[in-house]
Amino acid sequence: MTDFNNLIEMLELPQEVVEDVIENEQLIIMEEQKDHLNIIRSNVEVYEPFNIEIFTKELHERSSIKNQLYREATQNINAYDLATNCIRDIVYKLLNTPVESFADKWLPILLRSTLGTAIHNFIQDNSDQFTEREISLKIPSKRVSIRLDNLIGSNILVEIKSLPYSEYEKIIRSCRPRIGDFYQTMAYKYFLENFLDEIKSYGSEVIKSGKKINLPLLDKYDIQKVQFIYVAHDVTATDVESFDEIIERIRQLKKLLNSKSNTFFFITTLVVDVTNNIADPYIDYIRKKLDRINYYLDNGKIPGDDDEFVDKKKCFFCLYKKLCDS
Ligand code: SF4
Repeated sequence: MTDFNNLIEMLELPQEVVEDVIENEQLIIMEEQKDHLNIIRSNVEVYEPFNIEIFTKELHERSSIKNQLYREATQNINAYDLATNCIRDIVYKLLNTPVESFADKWLPILLRSTLGTAIHNFIQDNSDQFTEREISLKIPSKRVSIRLDNLIGSNILVEIKSLPYSEYEKIIRSCRPRIGDFYQTMAYKYFLENFLDEIKSYGSEVIKSGKKINLPLLDKYDIQKVQFIYVAHDVTATDVESFDEIIERIRQLKKLLNSKSNTFFFITTLVVDVTNNIADPYIDYIRKKLDRINYYLDNGKIPGDDDEFVDKKKCFFCLYKKLCDS
């Protein structure tokens, strides 16, 4: 079931998207959707204790609203798109292609993204080690809008990720980051080092309009090290049958880490040196995929099956599956 977990992982929304969506969703729910959501509640004739079945329906509704808002509002390519998403999914999304239902096909994903955001905030809010955080990189000429987690000086880029123990264990054993995470950081490196003037000038316009964003502070970046902070959780893992199994997995992991006394055994860091050309093929991939997406959008075309960036491994959870199959 590990592959299942990987598929779910790709569905998680990037941090900036989650925040924008939550902000928009709250407004819309307050002003327009309140009545709609109340329909579910009004079906309950007498007051009853919390009901998980009703909660599942509520989540389904909210997930549908959230995804619809996101899909309709989004006009830019994000880091997740570049790192892992199927190119046809990206083009459908940016062309505002309608779908039958926007609801997530696996609802616990909502809890998982909330956990991810909380973990992310917990680390950022309790450390002074980062010199810059939540940096917006908006590059209109490439239809890109992304936000990177942290920088330490001009040479170190830091990315925080939460994940199930099964994947955490693989990272500890292999001492390698997940491939999608690495592509994501290579996108940040590429944009910081090559589009800094455009990022800063566009960002200044946004600030002038009254919206607060964090722009890169320095005039030059040369990313030589990428650090991943991996935080394990298992609450929404799908590859375990019981809590006993989770506890056993954690016990084995502590043994592996030789960290009986380390209360933060579920957090680990990995530093990758990217000064030795190892970044080149990853950056080439990002650049090529980005140009290809823009080509399809400029020409109003949908990527065919022969496009190397169409990824059928992602179809199971894709909102456009019916459209693709028809
Ligand atoms: S259904 Fe599959 S091929 Fe079609 S857009 Fe989604 S992920 Fe891509």
